[in-house]
Amino acid sequence: MRPNDYLDRKIETATAKESERLQQVLLARQLDYLFARSEFYQEKCRAAGIRRKDFRKLYDLARFPFTTKEELRASQAAHPPLGRHIAADWRDVIRIHSSTGTSGKPSFVGITRRDAKGWTRLTARSFYTQGLRKADVVVHAAGLTLFVAGLTSKDAIESVGAVFVPLGTGASEKALTIIPLLRVNAMHCTPSYAAYFADFVRREAGMDPRELGLKKLFCGAEPGAGIPAVRAKLEQDWGARVTEGLGNADMAPIIFSECPEQSGMHFNGPDYVVAEIIDPQTGETLPHEAGVTGELVYTSLQRECVPLLRFRTRDRVQVLGTSCACGRTGFKLRCIGRTDDMLIVLGVNVFPSAIKDVVSSFHPATTGEIQIVLDKPGPGVAPPLKVVAECCGDPAASAALKLEIERKIKATLSVSASVELVHTGALPRYEMKGQLVKRASEDKAGI
Ligand SMILES: [Zn+2]
Repeated sequence: MRPNDYLDRKIETATAKESERLQQVLLARQLDYLFARSEFYQEKCRAAGIRRKDFRKLYDLARFPFTTKEELRASQAAHPPLGRHIAADWRDVIRIHSSTGTSGKPSFVGITRRDAKGWTRLTARSFYTQGLRKADVVVHAAGLTLFVAGLTSKDAIESVGAVFVPLGTGASEKALTIIPLLRVNAMHCTPSYAAYFADFVRREAGMDPRELGLKKLFCGAEPGAGIPAVRAKLEQDWGARVTEGLGNADMAPIIFSECPEQSGMHFNGPDYVVAEIIDPQTGETLPHEAGVTGELVYTSLQRECVPLLRFRTRDRVQVLGTSCACGRTGFKLRCIGRTDDMLIVLGVNVFPSAIKDVVSSFHPATTGEIQIVLDKPGPGVAPPLKVVAECCGDPAASAALKLEIERKIKATLSVSASVELVHTGALPRYEMKGQLVKRASEDKAGI
């Protein structure tokens, strides 16, 4: 390994035992802080019949109650602005971010100076894992305002010594001018934007996206860049290496990220977060072993403003491995989707991203753009699952392709689907996060 392969070698290459020992010490300290300063958690633990002294070893964490997003929302609504779960003194808060949930109401997250320092380091470590280096010029083509991964990415990229170009969203015209002038070689964006911008470059500038010279695409904020067929298409479009990251608005902007081996996102923050994987039905903690799937649950280790205890992310993940050629020891995973997005067809769980993966694998016969159409809100769906997919030829003359896609969906996901092929460009493109599911109720809401 070369000396510049890691930002924090000791943490990133620690043995499982070393990480566990560190987490145990930090968690004991974090629980002392929580029990002393947070009425919210004092009450929660009292109701669950658990006391501070019940925590001795790291595995005791599994005895503590979960925290849900709904609880945080209710706490904030009852005690504005940051909720009853705030544990720091209001005078120590230096910045507030927010996320917009499905209800459309913003949910706020405050950070102290120490929290900001932690977020910056963990985010920098994640970018560095993805291959960010001092010589890079990175255009940030994602949210820069309230979005947690906006200003934190700026701080993180600058801290590595690379150049941060704050483009923001909805600025594709500007990006076309700026990227060659500033010799930008890397872009931070959603995978939906990377796909959208490639089309934009071809359409508006009549250029091959490769001519812009981007060599590194740092993707995140939605699953996509980790879907093999989607990644392959983006890499082909841009002539760049695509890696992805995963974070959480309530915990930290980027917590997992892929190294250039591209074999799953490494857990980068054993000194900031305990990342459990649980069975979403039973709540049982599952081992970090290749092949295990479950929901990610986060517990903070060094948070001052809003420490979280066993926070259920609703992110459904699959563990891909526990060792890597890069030398990092953080376990690797791939995000399959949000538990909220999951559909159940005759008892079989299916994530929209898995359908997109199958359809994308037919590229170049398909563009990879899909939409799942639901007549009822779900998650239960009566078969066949209706999938609209763009094909590159004439839809009317593609009966064989339609049958092949249906057969492959059945073979790989055990779900009967009815595929309708449409012309290239017929489905909506999204500049930020893509929407793979169209519900009948959304039509009514739009009128
Ligand atoms: Zn690696």
